[in-house]
Amino acid sequence: QAKAGGRNTIRFYDPDMQAVLEARSELESALRGAVVRNELQLFYQVQVAEQGRHIGAEALLRWKHPVLGMVSPARFIPVAEESGLILSLGQWVLETACAQLACWQFQPEFSELTIAVNVSARQFRQADFVSQVHSILLTSGVTASRLKLELTESLVLDNVEDTIRKMGELKALGVRFSMDDFGTGYSSLTYLKRLPLDQIKIDQSFVRDITTDQNDAAIVQTIIAMAQNLGLDVIAEGVETQAQCEFLELRGCRAYQGYFFGRPVEVQDFEAALLQREK
Ligand code: C2E
Ligand code: MG
Ligand code: MG
Ligand code: MG
Repeated sequence: QAKAGGRNTIRFYDPDMQAVLEARSELESALRGAVVRNELQLFYQVQVAEQGRHIGAEALLRWKHPVLGMVSPARFIPVAEESGLILSLGQWVLETACAQLACWQFQPEFSELTIAVNVSARQFRQADFVSQVHSILLTSGVTASRLKLELTESLVLDNVEDTIRKMGELKALGVRFSMDDFGTGYSSLTYLKRLPLDQIKIDQSFVRDITTDQNDAAIVQTIIAMAQNLGLDVIAEGVETQAQCEFLELRGCRAYQGYFFGRPVEVQDFEAALLQREK
């Protein structure tokens, strides 16, 4: 704590806090021009079904800052959320993912793939979110069912009525939905039943110790059973080992995503890996 600045101003200095604030505003101004400077990129992480059959990809945003290097989305997404930049970033992500789907549409090896896109709360709450997605689908000429939107529990619960209405309208277009990081939020079964979901994505925090932690194992088993009873697909994220995969499979999980099958990579590498796997 220190006395500083103007005569009547007492500022409380917390050096860590100050560093965070400065880094944030710096990050924010750098992020502001990231789209036009071509610093953003989508990486794709494979999603697989039984016997490693590839079924799709999750699009994960990457920001390559000329000086800072690769900035983690865990770091810049919150900044983008707070500043409102997430609206233009989110739009760019949807456009880029749909352009990729359009590219794959006429290549037999890739034409069945879906792309899952993470949607932030602020982006989803926009009054015209549904028509934004609709027009991106029309412009790209992509079959809507190839696009999967990943929502989080906190997004959904923040305004359940608005969520259900928008999900319903997007479902009517053919868009699919996955509930990301499932189990880390507070969604009640009542809500789950009311949401037009297609898939539940088991959070990686439960998968990590699944073979050693009985509580995690029990939670995962319960999530899978519940998904099955509700007629929903289930996918596990953060699968890093064969043992985790076998454990999940034994309990009825049929789709997986994680370093064991592939890290998020640039589209060229993603395509090469799939072609390699098919041989
Ligand atoms: P998420 O949607 O839960 O994405 C999964 C995260 O887990 C990704 O981190 C991915 O790289 C990582 N991951 C995948 N497999 C494994 C594994 O086997 N082990 C471990 N330890 N990690 C694994 P990433 O790419 O750093 O993204 C972090 C978060 O940032 C995402 O979490 C998502 O919430 C957000 N995010 C990323 N791209 C976007 C985007 O385009 N829009 C929005 N709104 N959020 C995004
Ligand atoms: Mg996700
Ligand atoms: Mg997730
Ligand atoms: Mg997660």
